Amino acid sequence: MNTGLFIFDTKARSVKEVCAKNGFEVSIYCCGPTVYRDAHVGNLRTFLLGDLIKRTLTFSGIDSRLIQNITDVGHMAEDIAGNEVGGDKLLEQSKLEAKDPFDIARKYEASFHADLAKLNVIPAAAYPRASETIDLMLKLIADLISSNHAYVGSDGCVYFAASTFESYGEISGNRLDSLKPGHRHDSAEDGAKLFHADWALWKAAANRSEMIWDSPWGPGFPGWHIECSAMSLELLEGNVDLHLGGIDLRFPHHENERAQSNSAVGYEVVENWVHGEHLLFEGRKMSKSAGNVVLLSDVIEKGLDPLALRLCFLENRYRGQMDLTWDSLRAADATLDRWRKKMVQWSEQGEVDNKFVSDFCEGTLGDIQQDLDTPRALQQLRRLEKDELISGATKVACFIRVDEIYGLEIARAPKVKAEATPEISDLLEERKRARDSKDFEASDKLRDQLLKLGISIKDSPSGQEWDWI
Ligand code: AMP
Ligand code: ZN
Repeated sequence: MNTGLFIFDTKARSVKEVCAKNGFEVSIYCCGPTVYRDAHVGNLRTFLLGDLIKRTLTFSGIDSRLIQNITDVGHMAEDIAGNEVGGDKLLEQSKLEAKDPFDIARKYEASFHADLAKLNVIPAAAYPRASETIDLMLKLIADLISSNHAYVGSDGCVYFAASTFESYGEISGNRLDSLKPGHRHDSAEDGAKLFHADWALWKAAANRSEMIWDSPWGPGFPGWHIECSAMSLELLEGNVDLHLGGIDLRFPHHENERAQSNSAVGYEVVENWVHGEHLLFEGRKMSKSAGNVVLLSDVIEKGLDPLALRLCFLENRYRGQMDLTWDSLRAADATLDRWRKKMVQWSEQGEVDNKFVSDFCEGTLGDIQQDLDTPRALQQLRRLEKDELISGATKVACFIRVDEIYGLEIARAPKVKAEATPEISDLLEERKRARDSKDFEASDKLRDQLLKLGISIKDSPSGQEWDWI
């Protein structure tokens, strides 16, 4: 079944129409979070890509089924080049927080869901957990061993034999002959692998005592890539019309998943590999060591609507690297508030021109169906906002309809600024005096005091401005 949605397939290196192979719904798999920490705004950009696609399909009357996994075991720490070099991310965090690893997983899984809800994401059909899908993985690994695509190494780990999958490397361009020995630095693995590019499907427990399961090859835990093969084959019935993830997952994660899945069933499982480009923050890659990791809670703490983040993402095409800044978030927050205020005013102006509304919706859908060109579609919306020849009622109808794709809750009531209490007014006055007399230490202390009372402050050339958080 054709969908009219065209999207860039990393493997084909071209824009292709998305089709529902089963004839009734588009099957979508999106690699989910590794739940050892809160998702940062970059991760959220990738997760919102799935929501945009789903909403676009729904808008054009097409059903979809989205599966997003929760990685709560087996994702090892990596170095900058993506090589596995450390321990399991969940177990490391569990040591740091002195908590049971499963408690860590459930804690960050809950905050992942809370973030998605704040971003108005339509829930996926299922969020399978790796730790609860072990049986499926064991079955898949056993099948790969019996068809000679995998073998048990001398260290008790099970490895995928990369050279048995001829078209390895088609997604990323990293073909086996160009993958030099030593690309991976996990020495424990390297000793037992028959070929340097093989990877572990099942890792022997060795000294590990937590998060391990019994298997035909002894106690151990799964490699990271096998969960996505097992879950997508099972929950999307062996066919994935769209497979999503951030660009860093192209290699090795998706390359290995493709090799595992295709080898297990004997055909191409994924039709389109779609990758979202990375998000930078204030011009730099977000990283713990650089101290510039931004979470959704940071956006909210600054008094900004979480949906302002959604609008910022929509203003940039998913396939381009994007630089998010506090200024762009503040501007998006102001735009949302302006639109919501205008919706109230417009609703009382004139009649709805239904023909215009349906043409406008078609135009918006048309732009987004061309490889998710949301920036272009939003330009149309901004033009409509300013168009004095169109009635207010028609504008309201257009904004409400296209918001089914954008998910910005444009019809929501605008912010109302409640009066400051006498205590807050006094503190604001005191801070103003401190700033006028250039006593910045006092003014900073007063800002902290006000923050505790739920007030955020912005200093601008025209003076201090405040708002409720
Ligand atoms: P993780 O929780 O680290 O497994 O990552 C979850 C998802 O976020 C994956 O699809 C990653 O590719 C994606 N991702 C990681 N960093 C960024 C970033 N800076 N911008 C956009 N997506 C990212
Ligand atoms: Zn995955």
